Amino acid sequence: MEYVSTRGGAPALGFEDVLLSGLARDGGLFVPANWPAIAPEEIAALGGMDYAGIAARIVRPFIGNDTLDDDALLQLAQATYAGFEHPDVAPLRQIDDDTWLLELFHGPTLAFKDFALQLLGRLFEHVLARRGARITIVGATSGDTGSAAIEACRGRANLDIFMLHPEGRVSEVQRRQMTTVVVDNVFNLAVGGTFDDCQDLVKALFADHALRDELSLSAVNSINWARVMGQTAYYFSAAARLGAVGEELTFVVPTGNFGNVYSAYVARQMGLPISRLVVASNRNDILYRFYTDGDMSIAGVEPSLSPSMDIQVSSNFERLMFDLMDRDGAAVAAAMQAFRNEGSLPGAAALRDGARTLFEGQRVDDDETLEVIRDVHETSGVLLDPHTAVGVGAARKSARDGRKRIVLATAHPAKFPDAVESATGVRPAPPPHLADLLDRPEVATSIANEVGAVRDFVRGHAAAT
Ligand SMILES: *Cc1c(COP(=O)(O)O)cnc(C)c1O
Repeated sequence: MEYVSTRGGAPALGFEDVLLSGLARDGGLFVPANWPAIAPEEIAALGGMDYAGIAARIVRPFIGNDTLDDDALLQLAQATYAGFEHPDVAPLRQIDDDTWLLELFHGPTLAFKDFALQLLGRLFEHVLARRGARITIVGATSGDTGSAAIEACRGRANLDIFMLHPEGRVSEVQRRQMTTVVVDNVFNLAVGGTFDDCQDLVKALFADHALRDELSLSAVNSINWARVMGQTAYYFSAAARLGAVGEELTFVVPTGNFGNVYSAYVARQMGLPISRLVVASNRNDILYRFYTDGDMSIAGVEPSLSPSMDIQVSSNFERLMFDLMDRDGAAVAAAMQAFRNEGSLPGAAALRDGARTLFEGQRVDDDETLEVIRDVHETSGVLLDPHTAVGVGAARKSARDGRKRIVLATAHPAKFPDAVESATGVRPAPPPHLADLLDRPEVATSIANEVGAVRDFVRGHAAAT
């Protein structure tokens, strides 16, 4: 499989180079040159496989046989998902007549990001050993990416990881899941700014080509294609487990950077019959305004009860834009430039018209989020984390059409115990492997919201220099 940049100004690369480099050199994101198809009979047959088997089958066309043959890929997938605590890995739980939760929080850091990142850490290790290479991973997190990335990379050979988080804007549990990992190849940086500032700092480091080469910079945030790829399998597994492979399904996806819902789009491009994707936002509602009014204008980021969705510029949206603009990279590059300069995306209304047959936006504010958590607990006994509650709230706002609706449960309620307790009076307990989290020592470095400061720190601490 070859990959091309969404901005059309970088050479096509193979999987290993895309995995290791993250962002394309022209500032664009890599996407497959074409969409591999999975036939309906084969999708139906997935129902008889375990999760690792499904994952290996779905990612197969994206990874060359020279990187991993079929047996090696299956073994890698089995090792990846063996560490998940639920035997089904991604179980479904029905909460009303036509609504199911897809529980994606049984991995080591209790959020859906483990699905892709546990795979990514192993892919990195495998490819770096094969090539005799070493890399420096730099990432930005609004909370869950950081812990999942650190957990995936800790102690792995041939790589260092530097993770930027907005100081004081991630929950205590999220922060501790990062800062209590005290190993030689993990560096936590607490930035005086927002998540978007952290993301801009990372982009600035990548834009510095000399630094990028010097340190072999690589990304694990959702701009890395392998992240998107690693999330696609659970859409197939959900349809197969529901025995709904021939049916048109609706997925409701709590959304921040647009990575998870873009993975659903990829599943659909590969042949999974998805007829509706509900993009669920909190008060940071740029995507809701896009889908509803055809307007994509940047507003300030406001903290909410679902911090992993407190994002205005959703990086992965550019991948969808690329398809909506008939894969015209130069046009995407020009539109993104104008978006950066003016804070508003030109031609947004036309793009929205192209996207609206499949996508719908819904917005759920903090009060509604708490009300959903309370109501679902009362009616079904299930505790929802605030991100998942935004999804359930969005499902309720979206018109019922008789189709089965699957809401992605993106985090374990114990990751956000304060919100859950204030809504229900019940404080969710963490699973045993995280029970002593609040007692473990933390290590992090506070750093100014300045690219020079971050660059100097990374240069001073990366083993790849
Ligand atoms: C990251 C995250 C999201 C948002 O996912 P995107 O892929 O950025 O859209 C939603 N919920 C939780 C719990 C997350 O960790």
